[in-house]
Amino acid sequence: MKNILVIGGGFAGVWSAVGAVRTAREQGVHPTELRVTLVSNTDDLVIRPRLYEADPQAMRVALDRVLGPVGIQRVAATVTGIDTDSRQVTALGRDARPLTLDYDRLVLAAGSQVVRPELPGAQWLFDIDTLASAARLDHHLRRLPQSAPFDGRFTAVVVGAGFTGLEIATELAGRLRDLAPRERRDEVRVVLVEKAESVGPELGEGPRPHIVQVLEELGIERRLGTTVDAVSGRSATLSSGETVPAATTVWTAGMTASPLTASIPGERDRIGRLVVDAYLRVKGVPGVFAAGDTAAAEAEPGRLTTQSCQHAVPLGKFAGRNVAGDLLGLDLVPFAPDPYVTCLDLGPAGAVVTSGWDRTVQTTGQEAKKLKQQINSAWIYPPVDDAGLILRWADHRTTWPTAEVAA
Ligand SMILES: Cc1cc2nc3c(=O)[nH]c(=O)nc-3n(C[C@H](O)[C@H](O)[C@H](O)COP(=O)(O)OP(=O)(O)OC[C@H]3O[C@@H](n4cnc5c(N)ncnc54)[C@H](O)[C@@H]3O)c2cc1C
Repeated sequence: MKNILVIGGGFAGVWSAVGAVRTAREQGVHPTELRVTLVSNTDDLVIRPRLYEADPQAMRVALDRVLGPVGIQRVAATVTGIDTDSRQVTALGRDARPLTLDYDRLVLAAGSQVVRPELPGAQWLFDIDTLASAARLDHHLRRLPQSAPFDGRFTAVVVGAGFTGLEIATELAGRLRDLAPRERRDEVRVVLVEKAESVGPELGEGPRPHIVQVLEELGIERRLGTTVDAVSGRSATLSSGETVPAATTVWTAGMTASPLTASIPGERDRIGRLVVDAYLRVKGVPGVFAAGDTAAAEAEPGRLTTQSCQHAVPLGKFAGRNVAGDLLGLDLVPFAPDPYVTCLDLGPAGAVVTSGWDRTVQTTGQEAKKLKQQINSAWIYPPVDDAGLILRWADHRTTWPTAEVAA
């Protein structure tokens, strides 16, 4: 019996595991000859791209409804170490009992996390990085209308004007207006704080004029070349010396790959991702593949993958194909994702869709929002319960469901 072990129950981990089963089945390999196991510290696939929306607790899919029908064994545990010499992974089970899991081939797909700053009052910061932290923010917002009035009750400071910061800032502009009693609506303020001198520093020039126009329309204030030095439950103190009375400060700045990447003796990039070859094998570490936010793969010549669902899904499917292919002696297939696009939600102002690495604007407003809603409510969700459908969707040649695959 050969063992493939996948670490992580996000987009990349799920599609790696299902992709491996698909490849084994295509080759007529019996489940008693090749076992695929997925270890995750959550019971659900968390739909992280939706955690800026209201009701984040609903943004998940039970892992057993995707993995169970295709015979993937799930271990609910937190991985604590990886020994690539002995090909063993150590973990702590739910009951805190230590576990050792052996593998012949490993896929590391443990994702990423926001880098929380160490600053006075950091415990007052909110973030939308995990289901639990997004739920904490959601609960806090819903309670605001019931609290006694105070200066800054309906003010939110959002730190970081990248993808996540822009999505939560524009969402909050609408949400706080809906939550505030009518006679208090003029108290609603959203202040976007960004260390760089422009909003969307990594988004480039293409969509920036539209984003700036939207921020103005929504009345979102900008503090550029600035960061937050201290927070309390009632205010945020900016590096400029300004103190903004605010009940809510949301931190979105800076992402890093899972710390588990440090257990693998491979090269890592500046955000901790493992450098992989065209087949998603970690360079120089036999038997180990990486996918999703833990992998730095070439998406197109000279362009590395981004930490995004858009890349995590195909990285997972290709890693699954190749990890099984490697064990079964098949030719490996080079990673080849769909052309790069972005779709940024801008709250009540719609969305903006761009294409290419220079992010040329394709559509904006409500037309772009329709696409965002389709992506968020359908495309990124894996099918559940139906083994045939789940395996068809794992085809590495198709990133998003097509009519043929769904049929
Ligand atoms: C608010 C927000 C908005 C976003 N918007 C977009 C967007 O619009 N478009 C887009 O393409 N992308 C977006 N992203 C990024 C996208 O969500 C991630 O790139 C994607 O989730 C990465 O998938 P992954 O499987 O690599 O990692 P994750 O989704 O992070 O999954 C990692 C998995 O590993 C598990 N895990 C971690 N450590 C351990 C451990 N030690 N032991 C066991 N299990 C472990 C986790 O519990 C989780 O199940 C957004 C992210 C956020 C937070």
